[in-house]
Amino acid sequence: MKKLIAGNWKMNGSLAANDALVRELVRGLDGNAGCTVAVCVPAPYLAQVQALRAGTPLELGAQDVSEQAEGAYTGEVSAAMLKEFGVRYVIIGHSERRQYHGETDAVVADKTKAALAAGITPIVCVGETLVQRDAGRTVDIVKRQMAAVIHTNGHCISEIVVAYEPVWAIGTGKTASPDEVQQVHAVLRAQLKAATSHADRVRILYGGSMNAANAASLLAQPDIDGGLIGGASLKAPDFLQIVRAAR
Ligand code: PEP
Repeated sequence: MKKLIAGNWKMNGSLAANDALVRELVRGLDGNAGCTVAVCVPAPYLAQVQALRAGTPLELGAQDVSEQAEGAYTGEVSAAMLKEFGVRYVIIGHSERRQYHGETDAVVADKTKAALAAGITPIVCVGETLVQRDAGRTVDIVKRQMAAVIHTNGHCISEIVVAYEPVWAIGTGKTASPDEVQQVHAVLRAQLKAATSHADRVRILYGGSMNAANAASLLAQPDIDGGLIGGASLKAPDFLQIVRAAR
């Protein structure tokens, strides 16, 4: 299975900055990356990055999608709209959306369904907070988050990407150790196996302060199939080094 390295730009960028960043990434990918590489960009920049990446191996992603198909949902963006801009991946249930926008497990499950229905691969984020981790609840939390998505999506679950992102490791410079991450990924893999006979083709990414220095040791774990990269995805040399570690 090819690894997936996905950048999450979050609410960063400008026309000028995106232009420079994507051009540098495309130059660095140089034809064939040996792994799948995507950038998940703010919605207003989808058209710009779609044009910049055309004819290159860089895939385009979005950071959220509505669970609704169309209609009176001011401010929302549907999966069909994303599809029109060549979006191949969409991040769903990022902890920042769960925390600041009150996204529940049920909403995350419905958004996953909407993306799959449009032929877009959801990158479904799960992960525990520091309080939950300290209370020894990591496995319970990620399994609960995952169970909701499995329940709503049934056998289609084999078409998703999962991102394990411990909340305390996001944007903090703190990373879970490769062993700790592997343990959680193995739990998620077992849960997926119970739901689909194709669990081995589900990529389980790690996210949380992954960078050029720690990527190789994380990506060497058997159940770490790639990374979801926040801060380091805004610097082309760092992001490209992570990509090289995934080849
Ligand atoms: C993220 O936002 O998904 C993330 C992993 O961020 P960072 O790499 O900055 O911790």
